[in-house]
Amino acid sequence: MRHYVGGGFDASGVPFPLVDPARGTVVGEAPSAPRELVDRAVGAAREALRGPWGSWSPADRSRLLHRIADGIERRFEEFVTAECADTGKPRELASTVDIPRAIANFRSYADLLSGRAERSWHTTTPDGRGALNYTVHKPLGVVAVISPWNLPLLLLTWKVAPALATGNTVVAKPSELTPGTACRLAEVMADADVPAGVFNLLHGGGADAAGQWLTEHPGVDAIAFTGESRTGGTIMRAAAARLAPVSFELGGKNAGLVFADADLEQAVAGTLRSSFTHSGQVCLCTERVYVERPVFDAFAEKLAAGARALSGYGPMVSAAHRDKVLGYLDKAAADGDVLAGGGAPQFSDDRDGGFWIEPTVLAGLPEDHPAVREEIFGPVVHLAPFDTEEEALALANAGPYGLAATVWTGDVSRAHRVAPALDVGIAWVNTWNLRDLRTPFGGVKASGIGREGGDHSLDFFSEPMNVCVKL
Ligand code: NAD
Repeated sequence: MRHYVGGGFDASGVPFPLVDPARGTVVGEAPSAPRELVDRAVGAAREALRGPWGSWSPADRSRLLHRIADGIERRFEEFVTAECADTGKPRELASTVDIPRAIANFRSYADLLSGRAERSWHTTTPDGRGALNYTVHKPLGVVAVISPWNLPLLLLTWKVAPALATGNTVVAKPSELTPGTACRLAEVMADADVPAGVFNLLHGGGADAAGQWLTEHPGVDAIAFTGESRTGGTIMRAAAARLAPVSFELGGKNAGLVFADADLEQAVAGTLRSSFTHSGQVCLCTERVYVERPVFDAFAEKLAAGARALSGYGPMVSAAHRDKVLGYLDKAAADGDVLAGGGAPQFSDDRDGGFWIEPTVLAGLPEDHPAVREEIFGPVVHLAPFDTEEEALALANAGPYGLAATVWTGDVSRAHRVAPALDVGIAWVNTWNLRDLRTPFGGVKASGIGREGGDHSLDFFSEPMNVCVKL
């Protein structure tokens, strides 16, 4: 693993170990960027803004994004292997979601950029000759992109693509737990003739390491971050010191609502997907489901049976994360009912050294229990009954987070009434994680600041400037 700074690869810094989450064995190492390299990366990004990149047209940048997408596609299997090695996720998931979405991120912003309109206004003036106002979009400058471990390439490219589309230069720092695909992305950038310094990559940790030094760096003009809400608070304080704009995608404790008029089989299958995809390590995963009382028992029984029958799932990303999830399960077992799972599976092979947790269904916990209130980010869902639509909404809307929600109902009027009344950035009705990359993506309350996706990302990563010409 190497850093990529100013168009060159660099391995400086103390190495840290990389662990296979499926077996718990050390499988490699990556260098931890020293402060001096962070300075060099920010300097290279600043220098690149002043170079030819600064005068590239949107059409030039759009073609570049397509070349990057093609470069990932050419090495598709290699990216899938690196994604699975980093995260332990099933190959099927990496090859149908993560890597195709990384490619789509570059292609969709390339296309959106070509279709981006600039607005203008004719303004009347006392002399009758008028004035023409028009808006031009300029890059913010040097952008820091800090990404988490759960969907490493997907979430990194979700920010890098629009940042480059709008003419910025980027210094990216992926999670120290999952640097493999980011490394290959740097190689793709080099092969695609991305000008030196336009994309830079640093490995290393967050606090007292590359992440903190980057977000505190006076040469960084804006920060796009995905990760925990608490880390977002720390980064926001660093950004506030120099009034740098931030775009934050943070944690969640997503609710699902199952009404008695829903297609129960569809609601069960959908909840198995929404709670257990990537073993619950997707920010959009459902961790609490409220079920209308007449169908509660049937839903709980079917969901628990479905959870017990799941196979081919992946491990938690690290021993520390596995232990955190097990801590919630211990508390939940003491205070409520475990309907399925509840601990670590036994494989009787080398996977027993890995960080596995069974798909777990809980019930009977009070709403203020840590397992119902706090983000677990594992294969754990809690079920509770409700009696009225008002109560369902109040339960779903309680708590500090507001990222996503699911609503399962056969009543179209209820769907349109309930979904917009949820305090979240994204509500899915009778589906989950069906994404159109042009739509606003993000959370309210402690789940984020700002929206990404489509024009929202293009707007965040550019500075609109008005030009007024007196006619
Ligand atoms: P994290 O906040 O621990 O780390 C995310 C990134 O921030 C890593 O690259 C890390 O090195 C860096 N970092 C940590 N401390 C830092 C600091 N003080 N200064 C600068 N950088 C720092 O999050 P994680 O554990 O990697 O990811 C899981 C979290 O991400 C969950 O809370 C999940 O909900 C959230 N998430 C949200 C979304 C979304 O779209 N809303 C998507 C994926 C994950």
